[in-house]
Amino acid sequence: MSSAILEKPLISTHPLLSVVGSRLNAPLIHGGQVRYANLDYAASTPAAEDVAEHLAQILPYYASVHRGAGFASQVSTSVYENARHIVASFVGARPDDTVIFTRNTTDSLNLLANCVREQLTGKHCASGTSADSGEVLYLDIEHHANLLPWQSMAHRSVVAGGSIAATLARVETQLRAGNVVLLAVTGASNVTGEVLPVAELATLAHHYGARIVLDAAQLAPHRRIDMVHDGIDYLAFSGHKLYAPFGAGVLVGRSDWLDAGTPYLAGGGAVNDVRLESVRWAEGPARHEAGSPNVLGAATLARATQVLAGLDAEKWHTHEQQLRARLVEGLSSIEGITVHQMFDDSDTYPGCGTIGVVNFSIAGYDSGLAAAYLSAEHGVGVRDGKFCAHPLLRRLGLAAGSLRASFGVGSCVEDADRLIEGVKALLGEGL
Ligand code: PLP
Repeated sequence: MSSAILEKPLISTHPLLSVVGSRLNAPLIHGGQVRYANLDYAASTPAAEDVAEHLAQILPYYASVHRGAGFASQVSTSVYENARHIVASFVGARPDDTVIFTRNTTDSLNLLANCVREQLTGKHCASGTSADSGEVLYLDIEHHANLLPWQSMAHRSVVAGGSIAATLARVETQLRAGNVVLLAVTGASNVTGEVLPVAELATLAHHYGARIVLDAAQLAPHRRIDMVHDGIDYLAFSGHKLYAPFGAGVLVGRSDWLDAGTPYLAGGGAVNDVRLESVRWAEGPARHEAGSPNVLGAATLARATQVLAGLDAEKWHTHEQQLRARLVEGLSSIEGITVHQMFDDSDTYPGCGTIGVVNFSIAGYDSGLAAAYLSAEHGVGVRDGKFCAHPLLRRLGLAAGSLRASFGVGSCVEDADRLIEGVKALLGEGL
């Protein structure tokens, strides 16, 4: 194992909290403080230092976009519109795809669902693209953000199998039954980190006349995505999980359904013409971006994609995979620890594997109490609970919740080791 990679983060992140070490084990204390072992990247990542610097550079040009001839307004408009091109290039979008800035992944998927609902009810049918009376298909492993927007409309769901191969077969059975217009899947599970075979799912969907939307909230911060190559019709992700600040997300995808959908946010900037009794909505991204947009959010999100695009892909994956492997090995060697996975073939299925997420339980310990202990006594931040994926947790027999440790490019070996030591101490000392 190349320890040079593991010992320091792959990129610098904005300085993290330091935890006062008065209750920490002596060897961890450096001048009364200890580096916070942030193992919660799957929830939100710290901003990359480069992104934070970019924010400081564009902040002076703070002005409303699309609405003013003043210099600052022009700069802001150009920063904002340029951000679309940067994001489109990051995800390998088609030249005529629409890039809409939203608040986050949840917002993006709800926006798309609103457009799809109208397609399903035949309210707005762009020529040749009507999805009249069809259904949306999704897996039971989805984050609620990619489940609830579809649950309220005609839908089918698939219980994922014990393997990726079995899951694909079940998806195909549902698609073959007909009438599915959209397959909604996550690129990587936020619960276990396992990666889905996106290109294969897209091929299946297209074979049966459906489109595919990828919830890339977890995949985009860990793997390169190519919409054209993988056949992805729509894609959503959030800036705050990708080394940018909170408040901005994106929806990228085919323009016909988006241009046909009534904006679910109505207001200034989204229109071509307004009369007292009627409105003619704009086409393109403006249609779904009513109100003053989050320019700084879009610009920092775009900058973060450039930071990730600049990483050497192999080094990036090796860094996260080695950290994950070290943690899995360390935890698995402790009696009373169970590491959870959904599939038995995720390590061998072509193109799949696992992003830097490890889900586990400690026998005899409530996950919330264990997480609180790890934070207070060892300065380790992990997530506990049901990860906004209740159906999956229930199916995995984890209805009471579990623990999740997640890595990113700001992680290093000290973080993994501190968690392992913290869990050992918990089991040795008790609460
Ligand atoms: N999808 C997945 C797979 C996620 O992990 C999350 C957040 O954890 C979301 C969607 C929702 O992201 P956001 O809260 O940024 O809307």
